[in-house]
Amino acid sequence: MIRPVRTGSSLAVVCLVLVAAWTSGACSSVSVGSFQSVSLRQTLAHSLLRNPRVGLANFHVSGRRDQATALDNMQQAERGTRSLRSSYQRAPGGSVYLDIQMLWGMHYLTKAGWSYRVTELAGGSHSKKSSHYRGVAFDVDYINGVKVGRGNPHLKGFMWKCRQLGAREVKGPGTPGHSSHVHVEW
Ligand SMILES: [Zn+2]
Repeated sequence: MIRPVRTGSSLAVVCLVLVAAWTSGACSSVSVGSFQSVSLRQTLAHSLLRNPRVGLANFHVSGRRDQATALDNMQQAERGTRSLRSSYQRAPGGSVYLDIQMLWGMHYLTKAGWSYRVTELAGGSHSKKSSHYRGVAFDVDYINGVKVGRGNPHLKGFMWKCRQLGAREVKGPGTPGHSSHVHVEW
């Protein structure tokens, strides 16, 4: 009974913020922009956390336990704080704000009908200078309920949509180290 109302109101907030962002123009001054950026990030994170098309892993594939899982990272963004990085293996520790363009991309993927599970945002151990540590990338291991792999029928369409939404790098099966996940980077 309550849930549809909540969804509606959070969508309304997204729309309101969107209008505010658009009417303020493309040039984002530092003073105005920083306030808007924080509230927009929180609004998008709030919406993504309640989006049934988005799964957020509460574990690392590595099995390590910390407060930097994809779910943790999104909850931290919802609170308006920086999202934690992991600090094992090659992960540098510390924290970073999740990129707003990336969060928009995640949102619009679901608007285009895709559902997916995110295994990592800023957390986890990746290559040494991975874009994950800058808060601009996420990894996906399930698309429309199907495990990512060469035979996944949704793979091509999903990766194409990510690029169309502005992702500057999208890597998946066929790229070394990406046989079982898609890396999407803004
Ligand atoms: Zn990745």
